[in-house]
Amino acid sequence: MKRTGIFFTYFQGERLRDFPQALAGILDKENVSYYDAVYDSGDGLYYLEPVSEELLLKVHSPDMVREVRLTGDYESALYSAGGTVQAADKIWQGEIDNAFVFTSFGDHHAGRNFYGGMCYFNGAALAIAALKERGVRRFAIVDTDCHHANGTRDIFGSDDDVLHICLCYQDYHDEQNNVDVRIPYRTSDEEYLAKMRQEFVPRTTAFKPEYIFWEFGYDATQGEYGDKDLTRDCHPKLARLIKGVADKVCHGRLITILCGGSGRAVATYTIPRIIRCLAELER
Ligand SMILES: [Zn+2]
Ligand SMILES: [Zn+2]
Repeated sequence: MKRTGIFFTYFQGERLRDFPQALAGILDKENVSYYDAVYDSGDGLYYLEPVSEELLLKVHSPDMVREVRLTGDYESALYSAGGTVQAADKIWQGEIDNAFVFTSFGDHHAGRNFYGGMCYFNGAALAIAALKERGVRRFAIVDTDCHHANGTRDIFGSDDDVLHICLCYQDYHDEQNNVDVRIPYRTSDEEYLAKMRQEFVPRTTAFKPEYIFWEFGYDATQGEYGDKDLTRDCHPKLARLIKGVADKVCHGRLITILCGGSGRAVATYTIPRIIRCLAELER
């Protein structure tokens, strides 16, 4: 059984209102660890840490960090990105195998010197910066949020050690480990999964990353603001597919990061299912 870490912050917005209660039946499992910013267990063991400024400045410009500090969302942004950094560290230490990171603010629209679209700091990029210092070399990032990951591409576009596969609105593009796969309006779950099997599985298998980051947005779900007609059941299926590749190529090292999506019902339905898949609690 894989050991799964859950990294939880919830500062604002509607979508996570049912959490962590919606994780009942998961949190008490022996192979599941829960880290949050609310309860300090005293020994610091299960306390979610905000990302340090020192690490922030390895990815983002001082000007940008200064600007984010003035937004009023700074603390929340530090905890959102901190979950991903900490997840990567716990995996590296061998304490957990994979993780689900709840966020108030996502990653993928945050570049070196810009932010926007509800993203301030790029958690995956920060985690990768920290892991590189420990000698980890190769990474894959797969992005199933419906928007283009312009921030992540800005940071890693010319980095040969990072494979970036982004399913989005952009035209098809495949250059130097940077891939955009266009998802048309009205795409069925089966068509979406077929594109993942075709574009993500073989590339990632050949690339042999040591960690896989999954930017999990559910804004392409029916009724959401980026509606591409996917049903809510598509996301747990994606989890199974991505986890399968992680298990095969990198000892199951997979970090799932909550990105776009606003509906409370979709979050409450999909996230526990994804975590059950990660922790292998499904029958
Ligand atoms: Zn999005
Ligand atoms: Zn894209």
